[in-house]
Amino acid sequence: MTESTTESVEDFRLRARAWLAANMEPRDVRPPALVDDDVHEWLAARELQKRLYEGGFAGICFPRAYGGLGLTPAHQEAFNDESQDYEMPLHLNIPTFAICAATLLDVGSEEQKRDRIGAAIRGDEVLCQFLSEPGGGSDLAGLTTRADRDGDHWILNGAKTWSTSAYAADWGLCLARTDWDVPKHQGLTMFLVPAKAPGVTMNRIRMVSGSREFCEEFFDDVVLPDSAVVGEVGGGWTVASRQLFHERNSLGGGSPYTSGRGRPRMLPKVAPVDVARAAGLAGDPAVREMVGEALALSAVQRQTAARVVRAMESGVLPLAASSLLRLLAAESAQLNDDLALKIAGAGAATGAWGDPGLQGRAGIGFLSRQSASLGGGTTEIARNIVSERLLGMPREPAPDRDIPFSQVRRGR
Ligand SMILES: Cc1cc2nc3c(=O)[nH]c(=O)nc-3n(C[C@H](O)[C@H](O)[C@H](O)COP(=O)(O)OP(=O)(O)OC[C@H]3O[C@@H](n4cnc5c(N)ncnc54)[C@H](O)[C@@H]3O)c2cc1C
Repeated sequence: MTESTTESVEDFRLRARAWLAANMEPRDVRPPALVDDDVHEWLAARELQKRLYEGGFAGICFPRAYGGLGLTPAHQEAFNDESQDYEMPLHLNIPTFAICAATLLDVGSEEQKRDRIGAAIRGDEVLCQFLSEPGGGSDLAGLTTRADRDGDHWILNGAKTWSTSAYAADWGLCLARTDWDVPKHQGLTMFLVPAKAPGVTMNRIRMVSGSREFCEEFFDDVVLPDSAVVGEVGGGWTVASRQLFHERNSLGGGSPYTSGRGRPRMLPKVAPVDVARAAGLAGDPAVREMVGEALALSAVQRQTAARVVRAMESGVLPLAASSLLRLLAAESAQLNDDLALKIAGAGAATGAWGDPGLQGRAGIGFLSRQSASLGGGTTEIARNIVSERLLGMPREPAPDRDIPFSQVRRGR
């Protein structure tokens, strides 16, 4: 992002406009078919990413040394404006680029940056996050997946869960405990783990909405070389903190590393305005009011995100302010789901027997309403961060913070 560029944003925009028109297909705005397996969507995303790379429009804000273009967020914004009517590899935005590659860029080794970021930008690899565990995700520093030193290797054992799109990934950033005799935040190390390494068992989780976007993983004596360590041994919390910052920032719409606007078509979400049209209620004053409310909050969310990102960049606000973005994004997403359901009325229930119409989709989308206040750390944790780190309120008591992790009492 800091590399100088000789091409102005306007010239870049015009060049992108012409290239997109000649090389990318118009965006398919139809709701996606409700299919059981979306692996084909991932293959398509990789192909689209390869096309962007060959055309010279991939990794706009990543440094040239790692396969990107070394341009500014303003260039990325211009590209986002120009590309919104075209098919884009939106699946790769989160977590591959905006969370995992961004974290590697901050704290990875030269080899990790060159190999993993480069491969992702070329469309060859997908990255995911192995953080949350069956024992709980909010207390991330209390995790119990372990990596033990064995000669010049590490041996990984444990279990992770809720890993978004891990089934489509090549590598995962995995936080593990490497020292049990120091307080919980100090004994962690981050590893880059091949998602299909010997000893990794991965299962897809089917949710009530029918979605299978999450996986659970079991690690049984997975052998990792020293070069798999991201950052310092024992410095995993520093790496995870960068990762969580990038996660909140990107979920809140503040990342310069996402390319293209909108969400992947696979998500069974519908906008209140589309449901209103489908239900023949676009002229109903009460429905128009609801649609207006959703549109207004989403505009406020976008503009607040832009303002908070500028404030973090200039140092006016600390990076903990990314929790504000994450909170507002969840409010807006949940209002959308609530109003889509309300407008769909009884028609929403048709989703229960697989009606792919928009009213049925409003019902299906509502089933995953809560995910917006869980993913990227829960709303309660985000409020804790805002109160403690932005408002300077007293820290939440944590009796296990300063004692060796081996002495912390844990459920079995
Ligand atoms: C859409 C989505 C995508 C996700 N993607 C990934 C991923 O790619 N990789 C990954 O590793 N994980 C992922 N997760 C998991 C996510 O990080 C966890 O769900 C989240 O951290 C909460 O952990 P938990 O579900 O174990 O709930 P718990 O931590 O068990 O929390 C349960 C409830 O208790 C509340 N609570 C807990 N501690 C406190 C506290 N100190 N103060 C107040 N309230 C508290 C929580 O807010 C929550 O309401 C994803 C989740 C979702 C929904």
